[in-house]
Amino acid sequence: MTISLFVDNISKAFGGNQVLKSVTFSLQKGEILGLLGPNGSGKSTLLNAISGFTAIDSGTITAGAERIDKMPPHRIIRAGIARTFQLPAMPAKMTVMEVVMAAGTRHHGIWNGLFSLPSGRRAERKDHMKATGLLDTLLLTKVRDMPAAALSGGQKKLLGIACALMGDPDILMLDEPMAGVHPTLRQELVATLQTLSGNGISLVIIEHDMHFITSLCERCIVLDRGHIVASCHPDDLSKNQEVLDAYLGGASRALKEAV
Ligand code: ADP
Ligand code: MG
Repeated sequence: MTISLFVDNISKAFGGNQVLKSVTFSLQKGEILGLLGPNGSGKSTLLNAISGFTAIDSGTITAGAERIDKMPPHRIIRAGIARTFQLPAMPAKMTVMEVVMAAGTRHHGIWNGLFSLPSGRRAERKDHMKATGLLDTLLLTKVRDMPAAALSGGQKKLLGIACALMGDPDILMLDEPMAGVHPTLRQELVATLQTLSGNGISLVIIEHDMHFITSLCERCIVLDRGHIVASCHPDDLSKNQEVLDAYLGGASRALKEAV
């Protein structure tokens, strides 16, 4: 197994609030890793740390052979790590197609467009075909000419995934991708993510929908107040006392003692 990401002993505080505490985990190539934990446990902050949106206080993050923990977000994207946002905001004046096209920058540098018009056009045609295919896969073709800001919350999530995939990432991190997504689209999304994993893309998925997690993940890690308290198969979560405590606090222990 090849490790695609190694998060080693990272910590992060906002003022006096210690949000990540010595977090360590690795991600294998092609693995789909669930990232669970109650609200406020530090999941989004962990994604922000890996993607360079939040500077960490200590520890290291390595992707392939490259240290990425001091890199700005745009270099981390170029290193092959893409992410989506828990609450995606979309520009009011751009259509869905324009938003996806604007994200397609990993393979064609500025020189391509400036000095070589025919190949610039070829690159643009290629991007356009790729964007069309991704909108089709994520069932957004019928809204491709609508303003992106007018989409439903769930459609914005799918558009965020399309944008992330335009850059051909090696690692894709999704922050609550199912929230607001229509139930009929969920199965499609599961299939799409399984295909990506089959193609060697590693996925980190923050999600509260346990059905989604169990149908996708072989392993999940659980954060509780900044600590990883479990790393196990999703089927074993309900037997794990630390996981129950994380979600139910003292109530779970009191309940156990009462019965
Ligand atoms: P989760 O995604 O697990 O719900 P978050 O990572 O969003 O949790 O938040 C964890 C904690 O970090 C919360 O207490 C939150 O208020 C705090 N936090 C997150 N981002 C910031 C920030 N930019 N500034 C200050 N506190 C933050
Ligand atoms: Mg969050």
